[in-house]
Amino acid sequence: MNEATLVEAFRGIPRRDSVRVGVQVGKLRKVCLGDQALEAFFPESLDILLRLFNASAGAFWFRPFNAATLFPVSRVGFEQLALSNSCLSDCEQMVRGAWQSLGPQVRPIDRPFVSLIGPIRDGSTAIGALQLVAECGDEDPQQPNVAYAKALSAALSLIQPAIRRRMQVGETSIREATDRLAQLADQLTGLQRSMRHAIDQTLGQLRGASFGSLTANQRFTRVIQDLLETHGLRVVCPECGAAAILRCSKNPRARDGVFVFDHSLAGRRTFHGGYTTLPVLQVVSKPPRRGKAIR
Ligand SMILES: [Zn+2]
Repeated sequence: MNEATLVEAFRGIPRRDSVRVGVQVGKLRKVCLGDQALEAFFPESLDILLRLFNASAGAFWFRPFNAATLFPVSRVGFEQLALSNSCLSDCEQMVRGAWQSLGPQVRPIDRPFVSLIGPIRDGSTAIGALQLVAECGDEDPQQPNVAYAKALSAALSLIQPAIRRRMQVGETSIREATDRLAQLADQLTGLQRSMRHAIDQTLGQLRGASFGSLTANQRFTRVIQDLLETHGLRVVCPECGAAAILRCSKNPRARDGVFVFDHSLAGRRTFHGGYTTLPVLQVVSKPPRRGKAIR
């Protein structure tokens, strides 16, 4: 695909910003033809792709050798998205459901956002996916789909060979490269562990706190919940030890509400606690969703 065709492919993307498509396409080509290792290529190309697609978040996903499904190896912008946590996990499920399709997928999510999934292939083998969460504005959600699919194909025509080439540098085979990505995923797990430790420490210091009003307490519990959700975490219920969501509920005997632990026990939604100040908060991994097989 020559530069003019590429630029044309991105012209149909709904946008209100003043990104100069031609300049960004030039940058993307340069990064794709460059010689950075994959670890640097992913964030550099994502940065440009977000601008080209008027997207707020994006990720590259790959399936490590021996793994059944994909894992994100480079992610940007998801923490800042104004999307509910359930919508965010739906987006992840979309990637895991669509990465083996032959062509780009455009799926509506909460307006004005659309989820774009570009399968990354090595010949006939699906090896990963490019995921973007773009803002399509107030337009008819069906309208920009064709434009997005066209632009995704254009982006993939540059990116796929760039990734394959980097995976095959020298003696490196696709298998070795996916193993390298698996190692990267391991490093990310290590980072997540230290992040969890930092969150644990900070929450531990808040024992005994209350924020002066029901609204403030509720705002605080929402902030905690958003933070935990981002990192796939929950708090431990001090009463039964189960993974729970911390909430602040109205209570006739406590003006500022009471802190409760919301969890499902034996299949029933149950609240424990009822503290007027924050009890000890300990974090734990979010349990897998009920009724869904772990893949
Ligand atoms: Zn409990």
